[in-house]
Amino acid sequence: ERVYQATASAIGHGSQLYVLMFKDQSEARRIDRMRADFIANASHEMRTPLASIAGFIETLQGPARNDPAAHEQFLQIMQNQTGRMAGLIDDMLSLSRLEMKPNLKPGTLVDIKQIVKSVLNSLKPLAEESGLVIECDFTDSPTQTAGDHDELYQVFQNLLENACKYGRDGERIIVTITSSNTPPHPGIEVAVRDFGPGIAEEHIPRVTERFYRIDTQTTQSRKGTGLGLAIVKHILTRHQGRLSIQSEPGKGSTFTVHLPTKNLC
Ligand code: ADP
Repeated sequence: ERVYQATASAIGHGSQLYVLMFKDQSEARRIDRMRADFIANASHEMRTPLASIAGFIETLQGPARNDPAAHEQFLQIMQNQTGRMAGLIDDMLSLSRLEMKPNLKPGTLVDIKQIVKSVLNSLKPLAEESGLVIECDFTDSPTQTAGDHDELYQVFQNLLENACKYGRDGERIIVTITSSNTPPHPGIEVAVRDFGPGIAEEHIPRVTERFYRIDTQTTQSRKGTGLGLAIVKHILTRHQGRLSIQSEPGKGSTFTVHLPTKNLC
């Protein structure tokens, strides 16, 4: 649906002739709608943990006032809920900062292999906690490209954290880096494969939308904000890259980052 704003101006003095100008307002309307949706979703997501905290405070002040075991349990739940709100705020700030950032400056070189290695190092404890084994298969070719180090670090952190979160305990996560110099699409690919619950076909195009979380037992039981993949998509678009997702429910998923190298200076 397209929306136009029309303005009429007379040509010269006392003339009967008018010029009608049409300005396409569709993009502005679309952005307004997206902003309103974002605020509605964000408020809803914040209300849920807040309502839970308020409920537990009321119980602690009333029926559970003299029950030390309930105190312990409810305080733990309240702590988890504040953690969830803090995560949500962090992700929302990341996203809004990204949106306000100017276009990327060309020419800053980053090494994708190095970035992936340092993310893997930082996630070791999380992977070990779930008994996950991370297997790496990295190309020997150079993996440098123009980009923003911190933004790309966040891309691989979000994807690898998801693989640890949703991957099946005791199973493998396979991280593969390949690079190709052949035209027409010289570039680097990083694939993160897990053997978790997988994603049904109808959800695949939607998981990169803001706040979209799949409503299954396994995925809902994991902590999250539904913003991680939206952030990944946003950053990759800024780098003229993209994310592709292959998944088979019950078998696992592969998230692949495609980054061009043609923007190398
Ligand atoms: P979240 O904070 O909920 O993990 P994301 O934006 O990172 O948010 O992911 C959106 C949703 O996509 C998740 O809630 C989950 O349902 C699904 N998802 C993401 N990664 C995986 C994965 N590796 N395996 C299965 N489902 C996934």
